[in-house]
Amino acid sequence: MTDKAIAARDVGRVYPSDSGDVHALRNVSFEVERGQFVALRGRSGSGKTTLLNCLGGLDNPTSGAILIQGTDIAAMEEVERTRWRRESIGFVFQQMGLLHSFSAYENLDVMARLGNVPRRDRPRRIFDTLERVGLRDYFDHRPYEMSGGQQQRIAIARALVTEPDLILADEPTSELDSDTTHEVLSVLQDFVRRKGLSILLSSHDPIADDYADRVINLVDGQINERAG
Ligand code: ADP
Ligand code: MG
Repeated sequence: MTDKAIAARDVGRVYPSDSGDVHALRNVSFEVERGQFVALRGRSGSGKTTLLNCLGGLDNPTSGAILIQGTDIAAMEEVERTRWRRESIGFVFQQMGLLHSFSAYENLDVMARLGNVPRRDRPRRIFDTLERVGLRDYFDHRPYEMSGGQQQRIAIARALVTEPDLILADEPTSELDSDTTHEVLSVLQDFVRRKGLSILLSSHDPIADDYADRVINLVDGQINERAG
């Protein structure tokens, strides 16, 4: 297939406000190939979260078009879009959003169910994914019984358990120390290499550049690209 993992064309997002419109994104155009790990860098307020939310169909651009694997997400009905998102996109957030009273296994199982992973495949898929992030032995641990880095690896495993085509990760390492950041980024890089999925990962930290094939810089909602 020749469709790009991401094709964004002249994407704009304006937030209306009493003190004047905020142009969070302006004429953002770029493409991500399948199997690429792209770092999205930019200071706080540069538009990273807005862009990731628009790409994952959690928010709608005010102008422009977004194709994910050739699919125009704005053209989808809400129900279809939700299903598509759960099956095809893996989100990893800075606030990991793990369910605190659930074990690691159960956190992955919730996502696998939502993403329509067939029941008979789920246990193996969940254990395999936990193995890949190095936490198979922690399957029955709850988040509070794990370190911050382990929790973020569980959050990554949860995003990967549906075998999505694209991972959108919004500052997943900003709460982690630098050793743990390296550990988490190398887990993600390993998935890109083995599974050929694509990752767009936002960060205000240059460490991410070392793991990415390409770096896209956002400055005041506009793209400024250079080689990674
Ligand atoms: P980043 O993730 O890079 O910190 P954001 O996408 O969160 O950037 O924000 C980009 C700009 O849009 C900022 O100026 C921010 O204040 C503004 N913004 C973000 N979300 C909203 C919102 N819901 N309403 C109004 N302005 C917003
Ligand atoms: Mg943000």
